[in-house]
Parts: sequence; structure tokens; C-alpha cells
Amino acid sequence: MIDLRSDTVTLPNDEMREAARDAEVGDDVYREDPTVNELEARAAEILGMEAALYVPSGTMGNQVAARTHTERGQEVLCERESHIYKWELAGLAQHAEVQPRTIDGDERGVITPAQVRAGYVEESGHRPGTGLLTLENTHNSKGGTAIAPEQIAATAEAAHDLGVPVHLDGARLFNAAAARGCPAAEIVESVDSAMCCLSKGLGAPVGSMLAGPEAFVERARRHRKLLGGGMRQAGMIAAPGLVALENRDRLAEDHRRAERLADGLGRFDGLAVDPPETNIVLVETDRPAEAFLDDCEDEGVLGVPFDEHVVRFCTHWNIDDEDVDAAVEAVDRAATNDRMNPGE
Ligand SMILES: *Cc1c(COP(=O)(O)O)cnc(C)c1O
Repeated sequence: MIDLRSDTVTLPNDEMREAARDAEVGDDVYREDPTVNELEARAAEILGMEAALYVPSGTMGNQVAARTHTERGQEVLCERESHIYKWELAGLAQHAEVQPRTIDGDERGVITPAQVRAGYVEESGHRPGTGLLTLENTHNSKGGTAIAPEQIAATAEAAHDLGVPVHLDGARLFNAAAARGCPAAEIVESVDSAMCCLSKGLGAPVGSMLAGPEAFVERARRHRKLLGGGMRQAGMIAAPGLVALENRDRLAEDHRRAERLADGLGRFDGLAVDPPETNIVLVETDRPAEAFLDDCEDEGVLGVPFDEHVVRFCTHWNIDDEDVDAAVEAVDRAATNDRMNPGE
């Protein structure tokens, strides 16, 4: 089976398994796990932030960030298709107890400074006030678009001018950096906090990093504990994370393979494919996405439905060039079978 559902399906390699086995560990709730401490320091260094916190998942990183930046009852500005708003079980309402105010980004998920100014609510006797702006890069639902650092900076500046802090959901931040040909630190330079996943294209089995100023990360540490994310000998899972952090350069290979996949799929009748910017390929299907995916699965390829007629395929480090070519052929067979046996 060629599994293109997500870059989260990547399996740890031998180097990561050995790193886990040999990790020096301690109780991280007492801050005594040297491997976690090293991972947090290395992540902060790479992101150009003062400090970083190891969290079990990207979702927890985003939720802890929202909780740490805001006060109960405030509004949070976020893009309508953003992960933090759409795919985290209304965590903004449940954990931070804030009210999301959505902004429609453009087709790449970009929010403009003018939209931030228009969405801002000043605290008054009747209005709750805006406590946070969240941005996402790469933007998952818009097809892994890699938003330029200058665009992030311009939008963040509009928020800062209004006294509103900015959190960047950078689950695939290093994909954005690879696509933009810049260091990740440049993309997060203008924001107050950033989350990035180790467990996606970088290949770690578990974990994400939440980075920001020292004082922010100290408060975030308390909220991580509150959500049940205080872990003990977490060096066992942090060690492969350290290995994963040095995998940043190979993400460009995933992007090249996504292009190859998109080129192949784009030639088939009934499929419309936009050229991918990173490792995510969105395919618009004439047929319902679920039926199309069932046929793909029968031919040995997995993807996920994103919309009624949209399917997502992800390339990642367990997918090589041959897999991409085989996936294209499998989708071709699936489409041919459907034409020969319509309605089946
Ligand atoms: C995957 C993802 C997350 C959440 O990460 P998990 O580790 O799956 O909780 C957050 N934001 C974006 C944009 C993602 O793609």
C-alpha cells in the first residue's frame, strides 16, 4: 500500500530508534531530562526564539499557545480554514475559552493587514476585545501553501500596531522554509510564538515544539501541565525528535516528489490538480471524493478526503520516486476501472 494520507504516517528510522534507546533521561516535570532540555534548546536556536517547550502534539502546542496569550472571553482572529479553528475540536472555546472571529484568507490562505484591522475589536462595555491573531504556514487546507516571510511580517505588524500578539501554527514550518529558500527563523521573526511539528515531514514518532520568549514559555509550561502534557522520562521520545530536527534539508525532496505526483495526476481526465508549493497535493475530482478514494485504495493508494470533491495526497520520507510513479499508475487504473464499470 502506498500511504499518501499524511506526512504523519512516517515511521522512525534506525537512527531514531537507537537515539531513543540510548537517550539519557530524567524526570522532565522536574526539568531533569537532559535530552528534553537539549531538544528545547536546539529548537529555540533553530527558530531564533528565546525558548521552546516540547509538547506531545501540534494540537496541544496551538492550544497551550492560545491559552497562554489570551484571557477568557476575548476574541481570537484566525483564518476560516485554519487548523486551530477547524480541526482541533473547538479547543479555542474549550481550553482558552475565547471566541474565534474568522477571516477569509485568499486562495493561498493569506490574511492581509487590512483584514486584521477590520476584524479587530476594541475592548469596551459591549465588546470583548481581540486577544490574539493566529496565522498558519504552510497552510494545510489551502494545499500546503508556503506564505512568504514578508507577508507574515506585514500581517503581524498590523496586529502588533493594535496591541494584539501573533501565534504562528507552523506544523509544517520547515516545509515553508524549504519552499521559500529561507531559514525557518526568518518566517517566525515577526511573530510572538510559533509551533512546529517534529512528527510530520521531519519523521519523529512523537511531538511538537512551541517556541517564544522565555516568559511566555514559562507560562506555557504551566498550561501544558494543566492539559496533562507534563511528561516524565520524555527523553525517550525527545531523542528521535533531535534527530528529526536535523532532517530539515530533505523536505525539498518531498516537494519535488509532490510536483512529480501532481504532474502525473494532472494528465488524467476528471482530475484537476494545482501545482503544489510543498508536499501536499490537492486533487479535485469529478466524482465524489470518497468513491474516488475507495477505488484508489483498491489499486493500492491511500489519500484523505478534504471536501466533497477534493482529495489530499501527501509525500513524505517513506515515499520514493518509484512509489510516486506507482501511485500515478494506480490512480490511472482506478479511473479506468470506473469508466469501464460506471455506476458500480
Ligand atoms: C497536523 C497539524 C496540526 C496538529 O498537529 P498534531 O500533532 O496532529 O496534533 C496543527 N496545525 C496544522 C496546520 C497541522 O497540519
